[in-house]
Amino acid sequence: MTQLTSKDFMAKEDQFGAHNYHPLPVVLAKGEGVFVWDVEGKKYFDFLAAYSAVNQGHCHPKIVKALTDQAATLTLTSRAFYNNVLGDWEEYMTKLFGYDKMLPMNSGAEADETALKLIRKWAYKVKGIPENQAKIVVCDGNFHGRTITIISMSSDPDAYSDYGPYTPGFVNIPYNDIDRLEKELQDKNVAGFLVEPIQAEAGVYVPEDGYLKKAADLCKKYNVLFVADEVQTGLARTGKMLACDHEEVRPDILVLGKALSGGMYPVSCVLADDEIMLTIKPGEHGSTYGGNPIAGKVAIAALDVLQEEKLVENSERLGELFRKEMKAIDSPLIEIVRGKGLLNAVAINPTNGKTAWDVCLALKENGLIAKPTHEHIIRFTPPLVITEEQMMEAIDIIKKTIKEFEV
Ligand code: PLP
Repeated sequence: MTQLTSKDFMAKEDQFGAHNYHPLPVVLAKGEGVFVWDVEGKKYFDFLAAYSAVNQGHCHPKIVKALTDQAATLTLTSRAFYNNVLGDWEEYMTKLFGYDKMLPMNSGAEADETALKLIRKWAYKVKGIPENQAKIVVCDGNFHGRTITIISMSSDPDAYSDYGPYTPGFVNIPYNDIDRLEKELQDKNVAGFLVEPIQAEAGVYVPEDGYLKKAADLCKKYNVLFVADEVQTGLARTGKMLACDHEEVRPDILVLGKALSGGMYPVSCVLADDEIMLTIKPGEHGSTYGGNPIAGKVAIAALDVLQEEKLVENSERLGELFRKEMKAIDSPLIEIVRGKGLLNAVAINPTNGKTAWDVCLALKENGLIAKPTHEHIIRFTPPLVITEEQMMEAIDIIKKTIKEFEV
């Protein structure tokens, strides 16, 4: 039997798969910790970590064991019946994050949809907004997923074009604009403000210090729910367990996903207190897979790993190191370096004629994979288990690659 090459695998996807992605031309076959290997056996630093889902590193043995043990015991019951894992997982989550209740889902988009439903239920059942009048304030540049309702909030034409008619009820305002937020919150029909503590997909936009705190305080003042989408920023990625922790903000509704399973399984959830969560009654929301026993065991193991391996501290420390080293590169190619913890971006100078894609292709050749976000921005988000030595090696690859563009 002839061995299939990367080219063969790419051609097969191209022929039989929908063309809704534009992957870097690398076909991965194996992962361990911060490394992945392609089908030809070439090793790479993974500096995307599946968009921050693999914070705990590829195939973490503790999470693999939780998955395989539970897969051999009981996989799915649906919520028509109880299972003997969900309660433990709910207790673990609510105690760790300090909320009354958790609602489990699978993807980040589903968890955000759940948060939107909770905002609206709360609007009508608790705040007393007239039927069908509730509004939710969101930010330009947001990324909350791909459903019709979620793309109805988007300001990115790639995300929303030709998918109308759109879901009404959203008010878009500029990100990081506290005055504009206050203006909108004065409308009595506003029920919630949904925000990413750092806009990761948009290009790792970090708001001004104090923005989240001021926004949360204003929401309290106007009786509006402050809802944080921490699907990408949460779970140690930014050098705190939650990005909101940087400003000691406790969201009314917290949305988590991605690294909640360490990249092992689609697991997401929403956390809130009873006043909000109990507005949804039996039969009014759910998901066949949400809350399944594999998800529960995997999530508990994934959160154990974050704590046992002190990944919050590692993310903070090595993030500082990464930004310091990137800022020290003296090259006209690099326009700006920004981020928090190990959620970082390097913007490529557009006047140079080179795109982020060109740089990512060259990085790949040199043994590091990362993905552009928009034309000129490269996001660098390695697994948080990366050691200082590995980080220095990866930084050398990036420096060497940037140098190659100067000749
Ligand atoms: N919210 C944020 C902040 C995200 O970054 C993402 C994915 O990148 C999502 C939601 C959607 O998550 P999923 O792709 O699991 O639906």
